[in-house]
Amino acid sequence: MLRIVEGTSVDGPGLRTSVYLAGCSHHCPGCHNPQSWDPLGGTEMAVDEVMRVIDDNEAPVTLSGGDPLQHPGVLELVRRIRQGGYNLWCYTGYSWEEITTSPTLLEVARLCDVVVEGRFVVAERDTTLRFRGSRNQRIIDVARSLATGRATLFLA
Ligand code: SF4
Repeated sequence: MLRIVEGTSVDGPGLRTSVYLAGCSHHCPGCHNPQSWDPLGGTEMAVDEVMRVIDDNEAPVTLSGGDPLQHPGVLELVRRIRQGGYNLWCYTGYSWEEITTSPTLLEVARLCDVVVEGRFVVAERDTTLRFRGSRNQRIIDVARSLATGRATLFLA
């Protein structure tokens, strides 16, 4: 666990609780947060402790990092967040196509409302984009994408 930011408006619509999970192997050149790459970075926190902060805020939740989909505890955390009835966004460096062809990644992603997917690409960087850093990244509506069998955008 790298940190929890309460009441942020930059990681999805509304004021959200953002949970930053340590560890990312994508190593995108130009990554804004290379200190998040170490899977042993930050401090260890039990799922119960994270849920206590989330419940205190009663706000929608975003998972970021690092790459949350690479964190060994993410499935349990995501299940608990869903049980709590929270809207859930998840950032990941994996593409939607990589996610949907990996049972392990999909098991987590299918429990999210929205997945913001794809590596950060410096040549595609655009500071005017909402909720993403480079133009290749997509904000995916998970339920609609799974229902239609193709990546469907939540926000263009
Ligand atoms: S996926 Fe995100 S955290 Fe990981 S290297 Fe790329 S930009 Fe950085």
